Amino acid sequence: MEKSVLDLRRLYRLPWSLADNAISWLEPTSACNLSCDGCYRKNEANSHKTVEEVTRELSIFRKMRNSDGISIAGGDPLLHPDITEIVSIISKMGFKPVINTNGILLSRELLRELKKAGTVGFTIHIDSKQGRPGWKGKNELELNELRLRYAEMLAEAGGMSCAFNSTVYDDTVSYTPDLVEWAGKHMDIVQVMVFILYRAATPQLNFNWYANGRKIGLEELQYSENNGRRIDLQSPEVVAKIRERFPEFTPCAFLNGTEKPDSFKWLLTGRIGYKDRVLGYVGPKHMESIQAMHHLLKGRYLAYCKPSYTAMGKTMLLLSPLDPRLRVISGRFLTSLLANPLKLFKNLYYQSIMIIQPVDFMENGAQNMCDGCPDVTVWNDKLVWSCRLEELKQFGCWVHSVPRVENNVNV
Ligand code: SF4
Repeated sequence: MEKSVLDLRRLYRLPWSLADNAISWLEPTSACNLSCDGCYRKNEANSHKTVEEVTRELSIFRKMRNSDGISIAGGDPLLHPDITEIVSIISKMGFKPVINTNGILLSRELLRELKKAGTVGFTIHIDSKQGRPGWKGKNELELNELRLRYAEMLAEAGGMSCAFNSTVYDDTVSYTPDLVEWAGKHMDIVQVMVFILYRAATPQLNFNWYANGRKIGLEELQYSENNGRRIDLQSPEVVAKIRERFPEFTPCAFLNGTEKPDSFKWLLTGRIGYKDRVLGYVGPKHMESIQAMHHLLKGRYLAYCKPSYTAMGKTMLLLSPLDPRLRVISGRFLTSLLANPLKLFKNLYYQSIMIIQPVDFMENGAQNMCDGCPDVTVWNDKLVWSCRLEELKQFGCWVHSVPRVENNVNV
């Protein structure tokens, strides 16, 4: 797909910023029970933060950032012995706790406890390069069986949203239409699908790297690699791949890059349908109305919401006068009623599909970050990008690229 086909003027620019954002990112631990290929966090066994440290980070968020939800990530947060208490603290502070996990430790009993503590939803990371016990060698399509197990488990517990994350590589991007298709058959129990495009710090011929005035080797970083894999997959490529099977697939909103306003760093597509059939894709005015209304009524921008809200697809159609694409969905809904009037009593569900294009390395050595990054975390009482936290942990500052000069002055 040419970039021009994805025209930013036809998309709603999500209003999220550093100080006012739908989400913030909390890491109570860096420990993990998997070793995923594309992970950007160093797995440290004894890295659990104390409840006091976590509470302090939450108070920094409260002071510096108006936030609706807190993504509790890591590492795997379910490894933290006080995870239920942490969820409860987050909930009592007025944030929506959302747990990002690989799901391995998620039992029905723990799920009940976490729900009682106030968990609003789960984002479960499943992809084919996790080396997941019992699922090694399975491709993305085969892993849908595992995704369905978790979606059904969450639906059985009730009241919490179910999202799936997967890292997308050059050799797995062809599966994205399969995942979009699978999610479309489970609109009632899968609220969000997230595709995170693989990134790594890879040495560039024309640049040296410095931290605190010292030249460093990129291989010192957790997220470095030099084995020739593509680290520059772009969101429009994924959209083009999905459109080969679903020509109607059309994003409605985005976050741009800090260096490139026409890069689509967070690219959001929303769709409405019966529990097993997509009726159509919402347009930018729908998303603009939802974000503006939520901010007007609740004082915060919206990201995660409970299934009782996403099941209100029919109510969302009331916004049809504002949004031409919603009018198309309304037309199809009415046609389906003519064929079978009993469908009036069926729910329509809303589902999001997000494509995240993390750090882009620019030709001039700059890094194109997400403008209005939702995954900002706390480090030393400051708000920082979680995707580059290892630089701070290792060197105490961001790593900078410096162009090599021909006479080797800089080398
Ligand atoms: S800047 Fe990094 S941490 Fe923030 S949203 Fe983008 S990829 Fe995520």
